[in-house]
Amino acid sequence: MKNHLLVRKFQLMSEAVIREYKPLIGQSILELESFAKAMGEKPFRGRQLFDWIYRQQVDDFSAMTDLSKPLRENLVGVLIHPLKMINSDVSPSKQTRKILFELSDGYLLESVLMKEGKRITVCLSTQVGCAVDCDFCATAKMGFIKNLTAGEIVDQFLQLQKMSEQKITNVVFMGMGEPFLNYKNSIAAADLLHHAKGINMAAWRITISTAGVVPKIRQFTEEKQPYKLAVSLNGTTQDQRLKTMPITQTHTFSNLIKASKDYAYNSRNRITFEYVLMDGINDEPQDAERLLRLLGSIECKLNVIPYNEIGGEYRRPSDEKIEAFMAPLKRASFPVTVRWSKGQDIDAGCGQLATNSTSQ
Ligand code: SAH
Repeated sequence: MKNHLLVRKFQLMSEAVIREYKPLIGQSILELESFAKAMGEKPFRGRQLFDWIYRQQVDDFSAMTDLSKPLRENLVGVLIHPLKMINSDVSPSKQTRKILFELSDGYLLESVLMKEGKRITVCLSTQVGCAVDCDFCATAKMGFIKNLTAGEIVDQFLQLQKMSEQKITNVVFMGMGEPFLNYKNSIAAADLLHHAKGINMAAWRITISTAGVVPKIRQFTEEKQPYKLAVSLNGTTQDQRLKTMPITQTHTFSNLIKASKDYAYNSRNRITFEYVLMDGINDEPQDAERLLRLLGSIECKLNVIPYNEIGGEYRRPSDEKIEAFMAPLKRASFPVTVRWSKGQDIDAGCGQLATNSTSQ
């Protein structure tokens, strides 16, 4: 009995320690104010921490010179970063870098930093693994493991910014996972990236990409979220899309188009449709004709992504087939781009992100 009580006491103590050590990145101004109070400080200390962490992007308490010395000493041992960087791969062209991070429980996730002229884009993960199960995607093969917290999403940005010589100009939520199946944390992360007193990234420079979770597209529209929306269309009919994206069973092609239209109509931002081009699956000129009809009345942009092979059955169409597919799209009333996806040489292209879950 005595032993049992001792064990319980120890458990309570370690819980207290864990609570004290909740990493600071991911916390809002209000949360940091409460944190300051819990440390016996005035709330404005929390606002100072917010400024250091997100605006000045300093992650060393001893450099936070306007905090009192006793406070800086008290903060020793408090974690700032929820993620630990464990590997970084640079592509031979030096234009793309893929980073592997570890969560506190040992799970792994990947993020990508891409350079294109003056544009520096980071591709952030929102989940470890993914439940959506698109047949062509490497992340899907892992199954769903867990949602990332807002802090784990924002920390990818802050650590990539530290590594980058230039300022990051754009953020895309297109790494591992489905942001709209982790809606609350994804939006909280976007809010932290956008916060005027913190990172202060313009809302139109932040794009959230979904495989088509229709009720969440509707919620995103109703809430008038200022961030840009991208929808991974990847097909031009119900049956065709269903073959590679089982989510089309629950959220049908026509409902997805309707929800996308409503978003485009109600938002100031153009919607982006992504279209992963797969050999023999969705790459006929007829598909391009159907896209012209489907998207012609929507304020949108179409981004064609030739498939990045992941060792499975899907293939990237030949350059001739890609050109034949693009030809009808020259008549489009909306902008069309082809994304010659970056980082394939280090498996950092779209849909190539996968980890074997944990570092153990
Ligand atoms: N779950 C979200 C975000 C992650 S996927 C979504 O589906 O939008 C990001 C983009 O990569 C999506 O447009 C997806 O269709 C595309 N993609 C997935 N696997 C790919 C691959 N192997 N090659 C090229 N693009 C791929």
